[in-house]
Amino acid sequence: MTEEPKQEKIHLFTPGPTPIPEQVLRRMAEPIIHHRSEEFHTIFKRVNTNLQYLFRTTQPVITLASSGTGGMEATFVNLFSPGDKIISVNNGKFGERWVSMPKAFGLNVIELRYEWGDAPTPEDISKALQKHPDAKAVYLVHCETSTGTYTDVHSISKVVHSQSSALVCVDGVCSVGGMELRFDDWELDACVTSSQKGLMVPPGLAFIALSNRAVDVMKYSKIPKYYFDLNKALESYQKNDTPWTPAITLIQGLDASLEMIKDEGIESRWHNHTMRAREVRNGVTLLGMKLFSRYPSDAVTTVMMPVNIESKRFHELLRKKYSIYFAKGQGEFVDKIFRVAHIGYHDKRDITIALEALKKVVTESVT
Ligand SMILES: *Cc1c(COP(=O)(O)O)cnc(C)c1O
Repeated sequence: MTEEPKQEKIHLFTPGPTPIPEQVLRRMAEPIIHHRSEEFHTIFKRVNTNLQYLFRTTQPVITLASSGTGGMEATFVNLFSPGDKIISVNNGKFGERWVSMPKAFGLNVIELRYEWGDAPTPEDISKALQKHPDAKAVYLVHCETSTGTYTDVHSISKVVHSQSSALVCVDGVCSVGGMELRFDDWELDACVTSSQKGLMVPPGLAFIALSNRAVDVMKYSKIPKYYFDLNKALESYQKNDTPWTPAITLIQGLDASLEMIKDEGIESRWHNHTMRAREVRNGVTLLGMKLFSRYPSDAVTTVMMPVNIESKRFHELLRKKYSIYFAKGQGEFVDKIFRVAHIGYHDKRDITIALEALKKVVTESVT
């Protein structure tokens, strides 16, 4: 195989990082500004307003300099005290993390475990709450990226609020910006996302939408924290400021990406993601392949590896011949499935390119 030219355009269909639009790249190439300045406060104010638009909320959305996992950690250490009981749904790699992480902080975690590709129903959660009426929170993964599985957060939230006082906390890292999520209407209490997926910004920022109820609960938390102390972050947030040095360059890029999202309109953006996801699902099905998830998400599609090609060679061919990056599976499914992310900065033509290359690779028309 001949060496491809270095300037080859990279087609990322990986669930983080996702492609970055030129407008965002250009903003990040601008000279750095100082964060304790009017100029930064003006940008951060606009960003904070647009983040509320993104999450469909009038309540605060905190920005942290960390990846998504840091945002999730911030929820655990700020909302609870050692020994508190929480219910955590584990239906994949990320759910697994939201069981082990709170345990590390001394929480009493009730794990609701599902097979990979499966998702919890409102009835399941209702039963778990009947058994554990003292649970302080229910943790859900909106789109479980390891399996491309969607969880009906809205219906589950209704059930939780109707029968308990538990908080509803959502990992929206792979879904926010691409899949419908209405923080206020769905009565969520905490929802985390990060910069490198639906928001079209490089990795390095985490965002946490918080309900007023969650903000109140935070005052009583007794888990040690410092950098991720959301009470401190919230105090600064009221002044469009941050307690520590913010990731200024990424926030400038975010400013550009949120303007793009606003221009597109969040609801049309959800719709466009749905259409793209449908196209990918139809495309792979027409090629005779099988979807992996029982509840396919509109952010990432997981597909059973075709039997006539080895996983390593499959990804190698896609990269070398077409500069296309799909993701492998995770855990025991590492070579059994492949994942096509269509969240963020993609359009119809990108999907056509991905499906066309996929077809060539699986029909072995390329060698
Ligand atoms: C990417 C991702 C995360 C966070 O991962 P980081 O690498 O810490 O940004 C969390 N949950 C889900 C569902 C994800 O897809």
